[in-house]
Amino acid sequence: MTKESLKKIIINIPDFPIKGIQFKDINPILNNPEAFQSVINIFADFIKKYKATAILVPEARGFVFGAAIAYKLGIKLILARKKGKLPGKTYNVSYDLEYGATTLEIQQNVLSKKDTVIVIDDLIATSGTINACLNLIKQSNAQTVAIATLISLSEFADKHHFGNIPLLEIIQF
Ligand code: AMP
Repeated sequence: MTKESLKKIIINIPDFPIKGIQFKDINPILNNPEAFQSVINIFADFIKKYKATAILVPEARGFVFGAAIAYKLGIKLILARKKGKLPGKTYNVSYDLEYGATTLEIQQNVLSKKDTVIVIDDLIATSGTINACLNLIKQSNAQTVAIATLISLSEFADKHHFGNIPLLEIIQF
């Protein structure tokens, strides 16, 4: 499926979960096997260009895409989870969301300075989540080689710059 057809499938829900937020519902992509395969293939074609040893994904919708891509490309998958969900020693970072605030963590033993990491999420709004992931990768002494998102909100385009780390935005609203 083309990016234009994928864009038409995503549903905009006004004022969800709170007033003023234009929530992008990606479930129709997951509910449509052809659409989901197209999205995974677009992500995978982009990621193949980088010599990545790991994919890092933030809870929760990042997990869905990250798992499929990690399987397809044979790359290890790192879950960045909300506070208190991961056993053992963790690195953590707290940050503000478009609505609310949160803390993300990764286990301390999953990345090392030898790792080259791709960060993947379903959507970039304020970039707080992506920057939190970059922070966790830095705490692990690993290197981020690229960032990829299914959706990017152009309202926050001025925040979608991450130094010289390449960014794939499949669909823009
Ligand atoms: P941000 O950290 O502001 O870039 O927000 C990105 C994260 O919050 C992603 O993991 C999204 O799942 C979620 N998110 C933020 N804004 C929206 C939105 N308008 N529609 C759907 N998900 C959103």
